[in-house]
Amino acid sequence: MSSKPTVLAVDVGGTKMAAAVVDLDGQVLASDRISTARSPDAEVLFGGLRSLCERLLASGLGVAAIGVGCGGPMLYPRGVVSPLNIPGWRGFPLRERLGAALNLPCVVDNDAKALALGERWRGAGQGSDNMLGMVVSTGVGGGIILDGRLLDGLGGNAGHIGHIIVWPNGPLCGCGARGCVEGVASGTGLARRLNTALADGRSTSLQPDANAEEIAVAARAGDGLAQELYRTAGEGVGRGIASAAALLDLDRVVIGGSIALHAWDLLGPPLQAEVGAAARLDFTRDVRVLHAQLGDQAGLYGAAQLAFSLL
Ligand SMILES: [Zn+2]
Repeated sequence: MSSKPTVLAVDVGGTKMAAAVVDLDGQVLASDRISTARSPDAEVLFGGLRSLCERLLASGLGVAAIGVGCGGPMLYPRGVVSPLNIPGWRGFPLRERLGAALNLPCVVDNDAKALALGERWRGAGQGSDNMLGMVVSTGVGGGIILDGRLLDGLGGNAGHIGHIIVWPNGPLCGCGARGCVEGVASGTGLARRLNTALADGRSTSLQPDANAEEIAVAARAGDGLAQELYRTAGEGVGRGIASAAALLDLDRVVIGGSIALHAWDLLGPPLQAEVGAAARLDFTRDVRVLHAQLGDQAGLYGAAQLAFSLL
């Protein structure tokens, strides 16, 4: 058995649940994943996660704590979760249940905060004490590391850059406001904006409710509306980054999530251009915007960092 402390890192998402035994050097000693059960039954969902974790613990690697990154909203630090993309868990006491089931100390935090920690440890954020980690995916989330520490805020919600308003009277966001980064640039935001444009009679090759990937394919094939949707999405994210850089005095911003990973060719150029146009202060002009390096592993590495913080 390794003499270094090891932890169980868990990444809970709407489509998959992943877990890994990770040591202090970032070595993954064992890992596994399952599809998230399509069940409205909270216990069926938990049973799948518990079995996944128990299989990894059975390897006898001497795990000392559990760290979990999970979609919000949640009550922090209690770890009572109601992930938007897991309808079967509403007010589910994940931290208490998983800790009791595995008889280990357990911490549960927001998945975007976990991504920020993971990218800082092993990815594009290495060496930075002042960074914003962003997820641009079905929604838009973020985690802030300032002066070397992950910020939590009053209820653990620090870093919600998805709801910075970047487009006055802009498109409706899921939160009810208009012009949030998430309403402009997330997968759900892009689809909603497409539907609004269709209702306004705009011509396009796209069908109603096309997803972000389909809109990206159309944009690359020359569809004007699809290109406009991604251009304005990139500008919206860039404007949000410029504001965050002024507010927080950042060294860099690291962007992951499925839209950033699969459509950076469309999102990245208008985003970088807008950061250049909007971040004009001496200390914001040099903020670097980098593509995440760890793909879907970032959340696991971040969850490991959360667990190490318990030791
Ligand atoms: Zn919003």
